[in-house]
Amino acid sequence: MPELPEVEVVRRGLAAGITGRRITAVEVLHPRPVRRHLPGADDFAASLAGRTFAEPRRRGKYLWLPLTDGDAVLAHLGMSGQFRLDPADAPLVPNTRVLFRFADGDPELRFVDQRMFGGLSLSPGGAELPAEVAHIGRDPFDPEFDLAAAVARLRAKRTGIKRALLDQQLVSGIGNIYADEALWAARLHYAWPTQALTRARATAVLTAATEVMRSALGHGGTSFDSLYVNVNGSSGYFDRSLAVYGQEGRPCPRCGTPIRREPFMNRSSFRCPRCQRAPRAQAPRTAAPRTPGARTGSTVG
Ligand SMILES: [Zn+2]
Repeated sequence: MPELPEVEVVRRGLAAGITGRRITAVEVLHPRPVRRHLPGADDFAASLAGRTFAEPRRRGKYLWLPLTDGDAVLAHLGMSGQFRLDPADAPLVPNTRVLFRFADGDPELRFVDQRMFGGLSLSPGGAELPAEVAHIGRDPFDPEFDLAAAVARLRAKRTGIKRALLDQQLVSGIGNIYADEALWAARLHYAWPTQALTRARATAVLTAATEVMRSALGHGGTSFDSLYVNVNGSSGYFDRSLAVYGQEGRPCPRCGTPIRREPFMNRSSFRCPRCQRAPRAQAPRTAAPRTPGARTGSTVG
């Protein structure tokens, strides 16, 4: 799934390509990507004709296309959703699902989605912040992102650091790739308990996540699979700069130790076993001090 830098690349491409343009017609070629619009595909198309796009916006991995009347089209990129800006006479790429035509002619906006986990929906009143996105935390690129408050929220959690980084309500935009890269940069194992992080280390890992995502954005994002492309159909090249993600067996860029891949939340985590050591096992419950007269039987099987 695209993470913050990849979605921001798409947002910027759309900002340059659709802002201020009036829609004349919408054509839904497959109903599945507009399934969240309950009145149906025809209603989706009819209700957008004649409206004008404002500048596309983003929070974390969530993207929406505001309309100048205060509503918005919410875009769920899912696993394989793409936007393309193409001349009307250019052939449709495979899996083109929705077309937007404009009063000023070319280019058309085309929504392409191979696997169709994503889609488009109309968000009434959603131009500023769609209700569907309101529960998502601010991302580190947001001018109103508060690092000290995010550090405090992180340290108040009782979970592992990587799970916390992936929690989009805590800080949004970070997925598996940039979590692994940030943890490597901060020399932290993914299982480090958040409540045991000093303020300085929690700040360091969030700062590392911000820096690695900023660097990825400068490279046009990470093309982790062929489904991710920008609005021109080309992909980013940050994958050449990844230190650990997808680098199993390759030397750690810092110490040369082979990178290890481990199962994590039904996916994988990549880390340097030397730079990112596992936290010491917590003391077993049987080691807790006993009060006189307390039962000596352990509840630990
Ligand atoms: Zn290392």
